Amino acid sequence: MRIGYLVDTSGNQFELRLPIIEKPSRKLLNALKSVNNARRRQNLVELSLETFFPVTIIDVWNWKSKNDLFLEETKAKLLTLVKDDIESLPEEMRAAIKNLAKIRRTGLLKIWKLTIDAKDGKLIEIRRLLEDWKDIDLETLKKIKISSTHLINKRNKLYENMALWLKINFSYLIWEKDFSLKQIVESAPKISMNSTDVAIKIAAKYRFFASLHFLRQKLKQLDSNGWLIGGTMSYSTLRCYICNLIGKQTPQLHIVCPNGHKCDQDFQACKNLLSYLPEDLVFNKSESKPDIPAHLTKYIIKCSQIQPVMLE
Ligand SMILES: [Zn+2]
Repeated sequence: MRIGYLVDTSGNQFELRLPIIEKPSRKLLNALKSVNNARRRQNLVELSLETFFPVTIIDVWNWKSKNDLFLEETKAKLLTLVKDDIESLPEEMRAAIKNLAKIRRTGLLKIWKLTIDAKDGKLIEIRRLLEDWKDIDLETLKKIKISSTHLINKRNKLYENMALWLKINFSYLIWEKDFSLKQIVESAPKISMNSTDVAIKIAAKYRFFASLHFLRQKLKQLDSNGWLIGGTMSYSTLRCYICNLIGKQTPQLHIVCPNGHKCDQDFQACKNLLSYLPEDLVFNKSESKPDIPAHLTKYIIKCSQIQPVMLE
């Protein structure tokens, strides 16, 4: 996933990336294996999951939604189990069952607690059902927690390294000042977590996971002597950097202006932001090429020149 785009005064272009799928580290796998997995096979069958562990952020999302589904299925099973003799259940239990449609994990755990000392046959059946659910639910949540913590720490470490690389290699960094505002104005109506379109929903989840806010925080921490320059421009991605007219987005995230200049939207935003560099700061137009250290080569990609193309 592209999380940023960089163009310097020498014309070098870089794409900053946050990989969505990466080989899990041994450390993560060991941490996941350390979770009690005596029931692992049953767990996978019950949740119909294809992976042993949630190792990518996509796995984490899958595991979460499968676990939610498992909760709903358990509630349905519980209802079938008691529906013919609700009146014979203890009062507290009866009230909880009547409210079943609304309850989540905690509610279900409360019902389970009501069955702990049960001697009655029906309550014992309920207890068995809920204990099976609880074991799998707990193990699943533990694994999700381990993986998502690991993935977030890894992302944060990467952002720290990216910020350092930017600080070391560039004399100034111009960034979009009202970044969050820009997101709201230009992207929010299209990309929402509540969208019924699955692809858009996933895009929104990615964006949430990418947490550019954190990268920006890291950059801010490194700011000194006016290193960071805030640029604010309405429609910075949509404004054609050649003719200054406001263009339209295409499905490929290219922008086409009324004069037919077609341009990668992020490249365009960079070119527009570069105009914020005060005249007296324009220097070093040499052909310098910042080195990308080995640990960042997967995340900072040197791009070939993106040139605007004229549409036929
Ligand atoms: Zn144009």
